[in-house]
Amino acid sequence: MNSSCLLNGYADGRYVLPPLPYGESALEPLICAETLYLHHDKHHAAYVAGANAALETLQLISEGALSPAHAENACRNLAFNLGGHILHSLYWQNLTAKAAVHVPEGELALAIETAFGGYAAFVKIFSAVALAVQGSGWAVLGTDPVSRRLMITGICKHHEVLVPGFCPLLVCDVWEHAYYLTWSNDRKGYVNTFMQHINWPVVSERYEKFLRHEF
Ligand code: MN
Repeated sequence: MNSSCLLNGYADGRYVLPPLPYGESALEPLICAETLYLHHDKHHAAYVAGANAALETLQLISEGALSPAHAENACRNLAFNLGGHILHSLYWQNLTAKAAVHVPEGELALAIETAFGGYAAFVKIFSAVALAVQGSGWAVLGTDPVSRRLMITGICKHHEVLVPGFCPLLVCDVWEHAYYLTWSNDRKGYVNTFMQHINWPVVSERYEKFLRHEF
């Protein structure tokens, strides 16, 4: 995967927290400023720290300083935390500050037509998946690496129920920390409003990069 929001998530051999592309109150009323601050500066930052800790454990094992018995657990920790780092990096970038009338463009619009029968049908399916994710997870529009067709999936936590090689293009965080301070238990209100805050030019560009094998 190769996109600017992921490239600035790694520097000098360590994962790093990319800055938000907008101010902390920019996503209101979708996400209140306190939620955005906590979500980015605390939650996302913790996944970055957790991914680095797992990487250090794996490095110690490689150097013989730690027993290989720790490796399987370190891999689990890396999958969870690095999954969180990747998905949050995509999430900040695929949101737009103002409720927009944008819709998918170009190749992505055609692919949505082919895969789902149109934009309205896509919105219904994506929203249904976002509401149905059990507990903490994500609704994701991405691509199947075998057929290269679009597919919508629900990811549990940051890394479970995930097809190997699946490429995420549009992600919606439905962990309670993403919306509870703003929406309380109204996940449906959050998801419906999320659909109006999608930065479709960014998502369309990701798909075009995927088609060129650059993402
Ligand atoms: Mn989150």
